[in-house]
Amino acid sequence: MTLFQKIIDKEIPAKIIYEDDLSLVFEDINPQAPTHLLIIPRKPIVKISDVLEEDKELMGHLIWVAGEVARKIGVEDAFRLVVNNGAKAGQSVFHVHVHLLSGRPFLWPPG
Ligand code: AMP
Repeated sequence: MTLFQKIIDKEIPAKIIYEDDLSLVFEDINPQAPTHLLIIPRKPIVKISDVLEEDKELMGHLIWVAGEVARKIGVEDAFRLVVNNGAKAGQSVFHVHVHLLSGRPFLWPPG
């Protein structure tokens, strides 16, 4: 069981700022920007490359949640979404999550 499943099950605490029947949004414990949130599906999908056709609507929902939360906290004009897929790309928790970062300048290309 991953750490994020334990957060979903409320077995370990997290600063949850949004939740619905499909998803959960909480603050990253090691923020890389003044605003750093994680948007996760309740469904335990390991990584983006494991997303099934039947998950397409769910994944779209996560993007909608990102915009909705960004509007609610007033960062809708400038934020970055990041998804790391696989350990070599920086994934450390194997439950799909979208990082929402805001509040500082962002370089392009990304590191
Ligand atoms: P990634 O490296 O893309 O898999 O992202 C995993 C993220 O989860 C990292 O940014 C961590 O700081 C974050 N993280 C790890 N444990 C926790 C926790 N208990 N609560 C909130 N965020 C966490």
